[in-house]
Amino acid sequence: MTFYARLAAASLILAAMGAAACSPEPETQKAAPTPPAVLSHPDIHAFRIGQIQAVALKDGEMSFAAADREMSPWSDTAEVSRLLGADGQVHLSIQPLLVRDADRVVLIDTGAGGQMGTEGKLLASLRAAGVEPGQVTDVLISHAHGDHVGGLAGKDGALTFPNATIRMSEAEWAFARAGAADAGAGPLLAAMTPKVETFQPGAQVTPSIQAVALAGHTPGHTGYEIVSGDERLLYIGDAMHSPVISVQAPELVNGWDSDAAAGVRSRQGLLSRGASGDLRVYGVHFPFPGLGRFQRRDDGFVWAPED
Ligand SMILES: [Zn+2]
Repeated sequence: MTFYARLAAASLILAAMGAAACSPEPETQKAAPTPPAVLSHPDIHAFRIGQIQAVALKDGEMSFAAADREMSPWSDTAEVSRLLGADGQVHLSIQPLLVRDADRVVLIDTGAGGQMGTEGKLLASLRAAGVEPGQVTDVLISHAHGDHVGGLAGKDGALTFPNATIRMSEAEWAFARAGAADAGAGPLLAAMTPKVETFQPGAQVTPSIQAVALAGHTPGHTGYEIVSGDERLLYIGDAMHSPVISVQAPELVNGWDSDAAAGVRSRQGLLSRGASGDLRVYGVHFPFPGLGRFQRRDDGFVWAPED
């Protein structure tokens, strides 16, 4: 089993333990709280997209040696080592994104739920941003891998965000259901099912957030574009994992992509669009807080993080 398959299975199995099918009664819906005037905490980063308030929420981090064929998804280890230099380590941050969209409290992806050797800090980060789990109205899922859906349920199997509608693409929901049995995730699927609403590519999923199909990583892998006035931010999910490898060598096959060729095309398309349109980007696995832009350099691209 590959590292990534283990990642996916681990969190799903975790969520399947306990009484996932017996989740508690949802808490009474509460109005979205007034955010603190100053959000100061090492695991959160508040910023604006036009009139919209957003907060990067650190969940944890995973690291491995790029040359480790057991762990690394890139088979061209010589090229990856050249790109990374002496360090040779791949550091994948995990930072779901909180978006306050009108009266909606939206969480994009849910982290790893403390599995996979990560810290599982999402709920602490959420509360540091002034939000209780019961106040989340919408959870948008980029794809059904463990480091994105692992936080949907707690160790007791109960849904972590009991009042939230869980939204994902129809193709991704079909993919998740098809793989649930092998991953031991039947109880999680049972708990999730009444909360899941699916959409088609390009759908407007909340007033300010549109689904963007980013093919390749999984069958229904989806990015999310958040728009307010003249400002926009694209959440790219796992179309890219590394701000060095994925950006400077988008043509490298990533073994974590279910359709490798489509994954390459998605990365190249993102880079081209991002650089030509000066698009602000959110990389869920890029160094915290994951905000920046793609810029052209020589014959390729580089990642320019925000200060
Ligand atoms: Zn991921």
